[in-house]
Amino acid sequence: MRHILIVTALFLIVLSSGAVIIGITREVKAMALSGKTAVSTGDVKTASTQPLSGPEQSSAVLAAVTSVPTSSASVPSASSREPSSAQSGASSSRSSQSAAASKPMDPATYQAMYPDLYAEKVPLSAPEQQGKVVYLTFDDGPSNLTLPLLDVLDRYHVKATFFLVGKTDSQDLKAMKAIVDRGHGIGVHSYTHNLPQIYANPAAFLDDFKKMHDLIQTTTGVDTRIYRFAGGSVNSYNRTDAKAIITEMNRRGYLYYDWNVSSEDAVRGTSASQIYNNVIRGVHAHSHSMVLCHNTSAKGKTLAEIPKILETLQKEGYVFKTLDSSVDNAPYIFRVPAN
Ligand code: ZN
Repeated sequence: MRHILIVTALFLIVLSSGAVIIGITREVKAMALSGKTAVSTGDVKTASTQPLSGPEQSSAVLAAVTSVPTSSASVPSASSREPSSAQSGASSSRSSQSAAASKPMDPATYQAMYPDLYAEKVPLSAPEQQGKVVYLTFDDGPSNLTLPLLDVLDRYHVKATFFLVGKTDSQDLKAMKAIVDRGHGIGVHSYTHNLPQIYANPAAFLDDFKKMHDLIQTTTGVDTRIYRFAGGSVNSYNRTDAKAIITEMNRRGYLYYDWNVSSEDAVRGTSASQIYNNVIRGVHAHSHSMVLCHNTSAKGKTLAEIPKILETLQKEGYVFKTLDSSVDNAPYIFRVPAN
């Protein structure tokens, strides 16, 4: 009887220790599994710097992992190009950008930038059915030729529109303010006019735009809603990003204007009489004209031709108007290539 008890007790001990062993084995297996998972998650985190979730995970992980060796060299340049202002938001898209620096920028990155940079939308004014309208526009000012140009325009009671660049000398700021004080339209052209820089990506464009927009506002008090792209909305520097930039700027409510008449005064070798002829012929070819001229210190020929141009067109019954965001830009913008 005693033996039976001892044997049973021994049997029970063996049984329970076996269960413990099995239990331990299971736990070890589970730990090993979770350990493995943790390790691979860690790898992914290192590669992408952000946790990933949802159905995109597997492909994103793949992309992150497979791109590590090749993209490691490009990551620093991608992040150094990243404007400091973009650091405030959309960190997850930053990581996906690092993982695929050559891919288009994630809209979440630039949409998170400058949350106050929005233009109040104004209803478009009814299109002018009748009449011959000219919007005279001057890019690249202010300069030492801005005040002389304003004097000429005053003499003919003509109002124009100026798309300005980031010049901060006291004389330039004075000229900028005079443009507004004397009743002309004002808009952003670009702060730097450095095309490779501002068209590097939509975030770079926004950085430049914001700087110029704010310079105009602090100098003149005008919260302008209009702009003209440096180099025009379609140029050789923004082929890949034009669409994204335009979409983002439209989303924010800003209106841009290209032109349908060019004085060609920025083309090397254009003579004064050619400037005059280019404008007059161009205006004659349209019922409504958006005329491109420039107002840097090098554009003395343009300035010299303006009185003649105004006299001719006023005699022919053309009316000069300023631009604001109530003027529909549709007739004056270039067609953006599909990509
Ligand atoms: Zn320009």
